[in-house]
Amino acid sequence: MADQARSEKSSLTPEQIRAKRAEVQRNHAELAEGERRRLRDLHYMHCPKCGSALTEVQFRGVQVDKCFACGGVYLDDGELEQLTGKPGWFESMLRFFKG
Ligand SMILES: [Zn+2]
Repeated sequence: MADQARSEKSSLTPEQIRAKRAEVQRNHAELAEGERRRLRDLHYMHCPKCGSALTEVQFRGVQVDKCFACGGVYLDDGELEQLTGKPGWFESMLRFFKG
C-alpha cells in the first residue's frame, strides 16, 4: 500500500504538481488563524518521517534541517536552488551527512 502511494506520488506531472501546490495552499489559507498556529506549533522543526526534533546544520552556506533519529535531511523552499548552483554539491552533501 505504501509502495503504491509512493509510486503514485512520483508519477505526477509538473502540471499536476503545480495544481496540487495551488490546492494545498488554498486549503491552508482557508484554515482559521488559530488552526494554522496550532499546526505550526505541532509540526515546526519536527521530522516529517519520524516526528523527532530537527537540528539546523550549516552546509555550504545553507541552513539544512537534519533528523539525527532517522537520518533524514530536509530543505526549506529555495534552499535546493541555492545548493544546486554550487558545483559538486550533491556528492559533498552525501559525504557530509553520511553516518
Ligand atoms: Zn526523522
